[in-house]
Amino acid sequence: MDQDRPGARDPRFDVLFDPVRIGPVTTANRFFQVPHCNGMGYRDASALAAMRAIKAEGGWGVVCTEQVEIHPSGDICPFIELRLWDDQDIPMLARIAEAIHAGGALAGLQLCHNGMNAPNLYSREIPLGPADLPVASIFNDPVQARAMDRRDIADLRRWHRAAALRAKRAGYDLVYVYAGKLFGGPMFFLSRRYNTRSDEYGGSLENRARLLRELIEDTREAVGDTTAVVCRISVDELLGTEGLHAAEARDLIAHLAELPDLWDLTLSGWDNDSQSSRFAAEGYQEPFVRGIKAVTSKPVVGTGRFTAPDTMVRMIRQGVLDLIGAARPSIADPFLPRKIAEGRADEIRECIGCNICVAGDHTMSPIRCTQNPAMGEEWRRGWHPERIRPRASAARVLVVGSGPAGLEAAMMLGRRGYAVGLAEATRALGGRVAWERRLPGLAAWGRVADYRVDQLARLPNVEIYRESRMTVADVLAAGFAHVAVATGCTWRRDGVARRLLGPVPVGAGASVLTPDDLLAGARPRGGPVLIYDDDHYYMGGVLAELLAGEGLAVTLATPAAEASTWMRNTMEQPFVQARLLEHGVSIRPHRALAAVAPDHATLACVFTGRTETLPAAAVVMVAGRLPADALARELAARAGDWADAGLRSVTTIGDALAPGTIAAAVFGGRRYAEELEMPDRGDALPFRREVTALQPFDPAPVLAEGTAGTTLA
Ligand code: ADP
Ligand code: SF4
Repeated sequence: MDQDRPGARDPRFDVLFDPVRIGPVTTANRFFQVPHCNGMGYRDASALAAMRAIKAEGGWGVVCTEQVEIHPSGDICPFIELRLWDDQDIPMLARIAEAIHAGGALAGLQLCHNGMNAPNLYSREIPLGPADLPVASIFNDPVQARAMDRRDIADLRRWHRAAALRAKRAGYDLVYVYAGKLFGGPMFFLSRRYNTRSDEYGGSLENRARLLRELIEDTREAVGDTTAVVCRISVDELLGTEGLHAAEARDLIAHLAELPDLWDLTLSGWDNDSQSSRFAAEGYQEPFVRGIKAVTSKPVVGTGRFTAPDTMVRMIRQGVLDLIGAARPSIADPFLPRKIAEGRADEIRECIGCNICVAGDHTMSPIRCTQNPAMGEEWRRGWHPERIRPRASAARVLVVGSGPAGLEAAMMLGRRGYAVGLAEATRALGGRVAWERRLPGLAAWGRVADYRVDQLARLPNVEIYRESRMTVADVLAAGFAHVAVATGCTWRRDGVARRLLGPVPVGAGASVLTPDDLLAGARPRGGPVLIYDDDHYYMGGVLAELLAGEGLAVTLATPAAEASTWMRNTMEQPFVQARLLEHGVSIRPHRALAAVAPDHATLACVFTGRTETLPAAAVVMVAGRLPADALARELAARAGDWADAGLRSVTTIGDALAPGTIAAAVFGGRRYAEELEMPDRGDALPFRREVTALQPFDPAPVLAEGTAGTTLA
């Protein structure tokens, strides 16, 4: 395995491996996995512990939890994070700390009271904030927070202190006071937008910072003798002077400069902090954090989707940061630090900035990553980001198609030690990624192919056959024991997707194009162009941007309420909509496509059915997709010839099995490689899950007292 052949570290990167003192603890290097959500939380604690353990094994000096709710009055349900509400939660948190320590890292715990971001849907407590305002939760819940009085503030301080003590008992080395991203409740006190108080907690910066100061002081007093106190704070809300902004944040940090042991800098809200590669380049937070170190002697950690060691070194050398913070780069490659340490920086599996990981949290499902299919599967399926079990036999395996599924399957089968052939119809490797990386803003997605093509070149047991479109006869003649069919899919031309379940009427002479046509270079013969998007992920929006950028008049119609609506889950939707509007794209929400004619299209309102016609020289149909699985079906039809050909199995994977995300295709490739020639598990579940222990089934106290209820007359 790659990790077993370490080389010499490039001396340019030595500075990244300096130990850094953080109050009472010292981290072994400057690689700091900042807190990040993962959709597992209290529901999947062992899976979460295993995920963090692998980060530690991969060389991160500090590995943190996600936000840990300190009290039911700051309950962020339906999102699934961790909780430290009382002592019952300590064993779960202790398991995670132990796992991090076993990997050799310091363990950090992000205490969080969500303040007026918490709708408290689970606890039904009244949310608490600086003012009487509707909660700031993303679902616009019909819930208001009430303005905290002095007693509430005293309560909050007591809860926070108790949670810090529990964190220490659970074994953590660093404990956060969280005032960032509009999650940490004290941030609402810092922001003039929310804090309209006239008491000693409102008004001047000093007053707005009072609660945060008290929480830091309380935490230090409670656990600071052995545990580092970290303050996570937002340095800009990107709202100009209306919100917290860089100059004010600098004054704030100067005001509290020496109180915490470490400053962790973020942007607010989370969508600004974790921008995708489509909208922000690596290191995009630098202008906001540069200069902060001048106002505090304490170390500073910041993020910016850092994957290039040279950029990390520059951050340290230029005095911007002391610690290289990472969430997504540590998700895409938990072994990033070790690869740099071992002189293998060119083998880093770089984050592509797609935010599919974020979508796990937003859909309350376990985290997944486009680049790292083992993410979230470490405990559930026993997958490791770098290692895989050795081959079960000397059988030869053919992978047909070099998209994300085929590349991943070939790479991991190669690592298992199988003799692998990878056949690709075209000259380029990468399948859909080879095309899609050329779309506006998606260049970094090409890393899915680049990483795997580079790795394949290092595997002498994998042979790649380009420009080799395989037929059934070719496969049967090739003498492979196992065949993975990873031949992708095609976009439908008939409009069938979610809204339309039968083909849309298309008049003679009308021009209908699919994303495949555009990706292959076809273009509408002039405008205006209607893009019909019933897919709702990136393709409709990105093609609208492409065509508008080429000077065509573009309308994007969709049955949804907004463009690319699923991208709310990747936190990109508002950026997509803004960019389309800036490009002059007209957006027609709540419209289903009713008919296409040579010079116009008919749209129907999804509520009333009322129709309208729009001039359209061409319609681009971004609807459903169909698996390109003909090869697999034809091979199945020739099952009688398999024995003579030495063929034992044919398996369809990736988009050829069911079209989905790139992340799903990579996962499908990995799964094939993991499970090939493994014992059949029958009807056993395909992964482990954790079933929470039941509490004793005592009668509820009110019933136990024998109150039989009152009969209404
Ligand atoms: P996935 O996302 O499932 O990996 P892609 O569409 O990205 O699928 O990639 C499928 C790849 O399979 C494309 O590069 C395509 O050229 C290739 N392909 C399709 N049919 C054949 C075939 N019969 N022989 C070899 N390659 C094929
Ligand atoms: Fe990066 Fe995408 Fe993986 Fe998230 S899912 S870590 S953004 S590659």
